[in-house]
Amino acid sequence: MSATPNDIPHDYDMSGSLWMRLVDASSMSVFFFFEYLLARDVYLHLDAAPSGLATWLLPLALVLGYITADFVSGFVHFLADNIGSTRTPFFGPVFIRPFREHHIDPLAITRHDFLEVNGANCLISLPVLIGTWYFVPIHGTGSLFFAAYIGLFLFGIFLTNQFHSWAHHPNPPGWIRRIQRTGLILGPEHHARHHTPPFNTYYCITSGWLNPLLARTRLFERLKEPLRRVLEPIAGKADEVGGVQE
Ligand SMILES: [Zn+2]
Ligand SMILES: [Zn+2]
Repeated sequence: MSATPNDIPHDYDMSGSLWMRLVDASSMSVFFFFEYLLARDVYLHLDAAPSGLATWLLPLALVLGYITADFVSGFVHFLADNIGSTRTPFFGPVFIRPFREHHIDPLAITRHDFLEVNGANCLISLPVLIGTWYFVPIHGTGSLFFAAYIGLFLFGIFLTNQFHSWAHHPNPPGWIRRIQRTGLILGPEHHARHHTPPFNTYYCITSGWLNPLLARTRLFERLKEPLRRVLEPIAGKADEVGGVQE
């Protein structure tokens, strides 16, 4: 990896612009509004599941949702690191570029404020969140489980970039360090493996729980070529920005 932070081109950098801040702020407001509606529906329909069932079904839905967030964080991170151009309209600057830049300047994420770090994940979660709330009303055990699962899955996606940012922070607050040590969220030592050559493993950045399993099975590596062939015509050829291309 020879690129330095000075090599990052700024012609396509939309982060920090008034437009992006408006997009981030409105995405986050709408995200929290619908997360609240979904959580309220789950709470009001706890009796939709037979008595006693909700007490173990809900925690299971929440844990599975959190694990799904870890997997999706890894899969999206893998795609953004390896496939697509930073100059592809909209997707390039909003979703691909931050990942490529992150490999040139891993500490940049710690200098971004809360809106900048977390806005894009709110935006991309909205179709699933609003779709679940609107199209899957809770009327039984299955829909109760599904609503809780999606609610926590998307909340995990919302937290992902924050956890990632804290994993890079040179001096995080003590309480964050303590949570990182429990393994509940991504820790700096664990994530450091992703930033070690050849930069092709440990992509999951929510809790990182799935990283050892995915590294052992080499799932993402196996998917790389087939996905590149399918997605490259749409997403463009991966550019060198980020130095993560072999
Ligand atoms: Zn990466
Ligand atoms: Zn990182």
